[in-house]
Amino acid sequence: MTDPYEKSDIEKPINTFLILQSVYSTMIYYVIIRYILSELSLRACLHISLRYPYMIQRTCCTHCLYPIKTCICSAISPLSNNSMIDIIQHPSEQKAAKNTARLVALCAANTQLWLGESATDFIHLKNQLKTQERSVCIVYPNHTAQPIGTLLTQNTLNNPKGWRFIFLDGTWKKAYKLWQLNPWLHAYPSIHLTAVSSQYHIRKAPHDHCLSTLEAVAHCLHHCEHIDVQPLYNCLHKMQASFMGFAPHKPRCNDSAKLKKIT
Ligand SMILES: [Zn+2]
Repeated sequence: MTDPYEKSDIEKPINTFLILQSVYSTMIYYVIIRYILSELSLRACLHISLRYPYMIQRTCCTHCLYPIKTCICSAISPLSNNSMIDIIQHPSEQKAAKNTARLVALCAANTQLWLGESATDFIHLKNQLKTQERSVCIVYPNHTAQPIGTLLTQNTLNNPKGWRFIFLDGTWKKAYKLWQLNPWLHAYPSIHLTAVSSQYHIRKAPHDHCLSTLEAVAHCLHHCEHIDVQPLYNCLHKMQASFMGFAPHKPRCNDSAKLKKIT
């Protein structure tokens, strides 16, 4: 028999804590699902654009190759840099939706992407470098790398032709592999970047000051040419916003002022 004095469900007091917990859980699930869908959508677009280029008009922007809904073209503006930028990209990075090297190629002038892993994949680049009048510099933090300020100051005095920067694009593990598999790179001077907090938050990095390829390019160009590199950051913020589903955040500080301070 039921207890006549027991309160019915309707009469029980509403447990505010349980309601808040339920709402909070729903919000977390929503963010996670949205993130996963965004990631899958971008990966699908890259995959389609690379394997079936004639199909990309249906689902992806033909310029930036992102899904139409997350097209970043409105954030693209040209960067009139003088330095040449070569990005050696590990094959595993090519289909990564959060690959910032592609954003560099969309904005910066004189940019070339080289896909491969071993030395034989980069024969054309090596040939170009043999007749290069600019000073070639590898941007990679190996044990012989000098601080960026030191080397750039020397070059400004010695070579009016300017710089040709080579970046290694991939996860830190893949970049290290590229460095090991391409000893011909070791013949060129290399630089490491001074500690700057990264604005790239949607990809894992071992430390907060580990920069994405786009940020490394921006840092170099700013030091070398003293140009406004905000167009690069605009693309980065737009891409991050597409992934996270929120409006682009403002830089945590004025990048130009920040970089000048470090110099
Ligand atoms: Zn686009």
